[in-house]
Amino acid sequence: MRAVVMDRIGKPVVVREVADPVAPAGGVVVRVHATGLCRSDWHAWAGHDDVALPHVPGHELAGVVVEVGAGVERWAVGDRVTVPFVCGCGRCAYCRSGNAQVCPEQEQPGFTHWGSFAELVALHAADTNLVAVPDGVSFTAAASLGCRFATAFRALTGRARLEAGEWLTVVGAGGVGLSAVMIAKALGARVVAVDRHQRALDAALALGADAVLLAETDAGTGADGGTGTGTGTGTGGGAGTGGGAGTDGGAGTGGGAGTDGGTGTDGGTGGGAGTVPVAGAETGTALSAVPGAGAGPAPGAGTGTAPGAGGGPASGPDAGAVPGTAAATAALARPVPSAGIPARVHALTGGGSHVAVDAVGSEQTCADAVLSLRRRGRHVQVGLLPPVGGHPRVPMARVIAWELDLLGSHGMAAADYPAMLALIADGALDPERLVERVVGLEEAAALLPVFDRASPAGMTMIDPLRG
Ligand SMILES: [Zn+2]
Ligand SMILES: [Zn+2]
Repeated sequence: MRAVVMDRIGKPVVVREVADPVAPAGGVVVRVHATGLCRSDWHAWAGHDDVALPHVPGHELAGVVVEVGAGVERWAVGDRVTVPFVCGCGRCAYCRSGNAQVCPEQEQPGFTHWGSFAELVALHAADTNLVAVPDGVSFTAAASLGCRFATAFRALTGRARLEAGEWLTVVGAGGVGLSAVMIAKALGARVVAVDRHQRALDAALALGADAVLLAETDAGTGADGGTGTGTGTGTGGGAGTGGGAGTDGGAGTGGGAGTDGGTGTDGGTGGGAGTVPVAGAETGTALSAVPGAGAGPAPGAGTGTAPGAGGGPASGPDAGAVPGTAAATAALARPVPSAGIPARVHALTGGGSHVAVDAVGSEQTCADAVLSLRRRGRHVQVGLLPPVGGHPRVPMARVIAWELDLLGSHGMAAADYPAMLALIADGALDPERLVERVVGLEEAAALLPVFDRASPAGMTMIDPLRG
């Protein structure tokens, strides 16, 4: 078969003929019809994972069973299938209870063994891991579920239990984040998307995000935080007509006077950084879908311990005056310093979102997500957080004081796929919209080494049959 082969870490990859795989006992061989190219594949190429060379990457796949190994009971040649990127052993208590996503003996195609950037791929423990792809779901759509979409689905449904009418903050509008936007809207929730790239936010809006916030890349100075009830001074808000006698923005016109610290009730000496531009304040066209959201004084002002704790909800400069509509495009005239994101989310959502997802995995994005929550909110950490001094840093003071739930999410077991596939088959979810381009194996080989610089929006799908 032809496959994309890595012979050395961090070196160019080639497409060449290799031996066809053989179905292992309990497993199958699948002819690959679609397989997603993902940042995780680049990590393996770059040497961040422990892979045996030569190696074939690829873990987001869909195709047709062409060979069935001994002992497989549920699958036959010709079946259309996909598979989670975390495959369970099929024998342990976790697998037997439908939680193969945390199997201690888990395997991941494209990491622990050869993956799907090839015409054929071998998959283990088929009775546990394979998922039937309904006739109404294309291979491209099924493969696009493989890691990012399924991860987002489980994070929101199985873990955070997001409900209709609730607010969700998604930090990071890449593959997982955009999937989360689509899924949340299908569930009837309202969404604020945060990203550093305008293009990613445009994609989020196209998928139905109710509001978007463009984060600055070099912020995080804690300008919004601090203690007590300070009265920041500064030049932040810019001129605008967003209205509202908001405490965030100061005098009445969308943050006009422009102190993110405002007149004090949203807390924080921090506003005092004084150069905090406040997106949306400028144009005033209602960041928020919540009329009057900003009316109140800031809840939670100043526990003073967590970064941004005082930053709070930054009551309403723009939220108040213009009820309703106008999701956010006008909010983008200026980027929001990351330290101001939680305050903006509190203003938009009338006190904070119910659920937040950090789809990036940095100290800043995690803090933005956690601090964007309202009291008793639920945070799901999906992006892998880098350690600082041995462990990642998380604003635990807020977690404790506001009784926040911190949840982890790691892929999704095959047992949970049918509910998601049903939503796709009936059109409520359309993951194929997230696919930006389809390429062949040769182009995939050329893209893999530069995929860390890939565009932030949209998935790249490989069709091995294209050559
Ligand atoms: Zn297991
Ligand atoms: Zn992936």
